[in-house]
Amino acid sequence: FARLTTGLKRSSDQLTGSITSVFTKRKLDNATLEELEDILIQADLGMETATAITETLRRDRFDRDVSGDDVRAVLAAEVEKVLEPVARPLVIDASRKPFVILMIGVNGSGKTTTVGKLAQQFADQGKSVMLAAGDTFRAAAIEQLQVWGQRTNATVISRPAGSDASGLAFDAVTQARAEGRDILIIDTAGRLQNREELMGELEKVIRVIKKVDPTAPHATLLTLDATTGQNALKQVEIFGKRAGVTGLVMTKLDGTARGGILVAIAKRFGLPVHFIGVGESVGDLEPFTASEFARAIAR
Ligand code: GDP
Repeated sequence: FARLTTGLKRSSDQLTGSITSVFTKRKLDNATLEELEDILIQADLGMETATAITETLRRDRFDRDVSGDDVRAVLAAEVEKVLEPVARPLVIDASRKPFVILMIGVNGSGKTTTVGKLAQQFADQGKSVMLAAGDTFRAAAIEQLQVWGQRTNATVISRPAGSDASGLAFDAVTQARAEGRDILIIDTAGRLQNREELMGELEKVIRVIKKVDPTAPHATLLTLDATTGQNALKQVEIFGKRAGVTGLVMTKLDGTARGGILVAIAKRFGLPVHFIGVGESVGDLEPFTASEFARAIAR
């Protein structure tokens, strides 16, 4: 919780700083409510949540003195209410061997880092993990995954840069199954510059995985960079449509002023949020909890 609180400090400072400046010795009237709604929208929380918060205040407190603390309490309660249904742990079905996790997201969103962090968590639980370096476009991504493999004692399946990603995925599932691995995490490319090509490739990777195991991938996790703000909504929409996202990981919640976007995403898509990234180190991946996030953002 401490990491998240420090991480969301810029989000909450901006938000509650503005709230405090509006609600210093002022009665709650239409003007203050409008100002508050603007602040909440600016904080990326989304129109619906912003309206829900101002309407609650209008109903309960109109024409009365309202302090910043009162407003923050309503903010925290509403954010928690939106996030509660989506805060879900990633459940690993142990009867699947391997349990196949497909990691998708745009370049730079923290995909490969999240693969490494997850590999460590699974290794700590005594599971045998295999990683597939499916971002075959970038030599640096392949090397990065190999480093994570060494660090977490996971076997890494890779091919030279430029190889076919679906062929690699096929080999990885086949090998992980033959070796009786518990978990296989497949990294993928994220070149959004060529969206059609990327989506076509992802669909092909999924088709090929299903040839080995029709029930796989068992989880398709989308990494979203919290610092990109509104852009993240578009990414959920595109990847969701084409790759069947089953859960979200929001990265870089340390030190961004835009953490509120998670609330807008939860409201719009209702997809489970499994983890949040709060730093670059291996231990900086935390299970997502609605109450902690709400408290941290409304601090
Ligand atoms: P990919 O291109 O999606 O695979 O992204 P990477 O995993 O290579 O991450 C891009 C950059 O973001 C790297 O410098 C990572 O160290 C950094 N990064 C990833 N997750 C986090 C996080 O939760 N917090 C911070 N501060 N940096 C992160």
